[in-house]
Amino acid sequence: MDYQARQEQLQRALGQHRLDAIVVTHLPNIRYLCGFTGSAGVLLLAPSHSLFFSDGRYKEQARAEVKGAAVVIGTRPALIAAAEWLATKGRKIKVLGIESEHLTVAERQQLAKSAGRGVRVREAPPLVEQARAVKDPLEIDSLRAAARLGANLFKVALKTIRPGIKEVEVAAEMEYAARQAGAEGMSFGTIIASGERSALPHGRATSAVIPRQGFVVCDFGVILAGYCSDMTRTVHVNTPSAKARHIYCAVREAQQAAIEAVRAGVRIERVHAAARKVLNRKRLVQYFTHSTGHGVGLEIHEAPRIAAAQTEPLRAGMVITIEPGVYVPGFGGVRIEDMVAVTERGYQILTPTSKELIEL
Ligand code: ZN
Ligand code: ZN
Repeated sequence: MDYQARQEQLQRALGQHRLDAIVVTHLPNIRYLCGFTGSAGVLLLAPSHSLFFSDGRYKEQARAEVKGAAVVIGTRPALIAAAEWLATKGRKIKVLGIESEHLTVAERQQLAKSAGRGVRVREAPPLVEQARAVKDPLEIDSLRAAARLGANLFKVALKTIRPGIKEVEVAAEMEYAARQAGAEGMSFGTIIASGERSALPHGRATSAVIPRQGFVVCDFGVILAGYCSDMTRTVHVNTPSAKARHIYCAVREAQQAAIEAVRAGVRIERVHAAARKVLNRKRLVQYFTHSTGHGVGLEIHEAPRIAAAQTEPLRAGMVITIEPGVYVPGFGGVRIEDMVAVTERGYQILTPTSKELIEL
């Protein structure tokens, strides 16, 4: 990863936003900018400085991992150490940007107090998140590898799902297999939602027992080398009714239409509209209650949001999910989700799994 280039890009952006420096407090942003994977640290970036502050617990790890920034290990919390550096050695920094979505009110007050009167604290736009939305080729390789490992867990789900077994037991088998295969963890709590629970878009696996008949939504992902995977497949226990088949085919068609709308330069809202158009034609659009997808990378949900009123264009290198769903209360639901990389000419699907309706 070219941490130097990432930092230089941010350093250039500071001037455009009339900031003398920025204090980066969101750990995934810190990892993106300098490689640190620990859980306590702050990166202070100015055009002429790049300083990483942490405490004694991370002395060895910071020295081994941090690239392109001087490592400062102190006895105080990292944010206060950074503020004290501003008050003593960083006097030329008058306007300091903060990541307003990643700093508590108390931390902001602490920062302003320790930095002293010479520093004005201002909310910066989400500059690092914007940069992270477009992945470089190495990141796309990492996401593809995570997607492949994640997809193997679906085979475990297929072997495990049967009437009478608990949803959590299915999730447990998948999560055990993930760790065995080298995943650092799951990118979110595994969703196994069966029967009427499949109509809950975020139905985390519970002790509910899989019924003799109905849909099972399986939405899961792994973290591999820091990068997240995310996919959903919906299977049917026993023979689906005509209504169930109709819903499944409609969601699959909507998902395909949204994927085919993906190309660099296309307004993001058009991808969402493509999915909705199909479901509208099938008279199911009222049951599609969420956005079509999201960016995925070092975090499971990141920029951009694939939703209505998102007028900015897709850019080559973005990696997004496409995951329309239909949820009929009291009946059940279907969601199908793939990870897709945006290219100049269109798209590349990173999830290698068939979308045929599987009956178990
Ligand atoms: Zn998902
Ligand atoms: Zn997702």
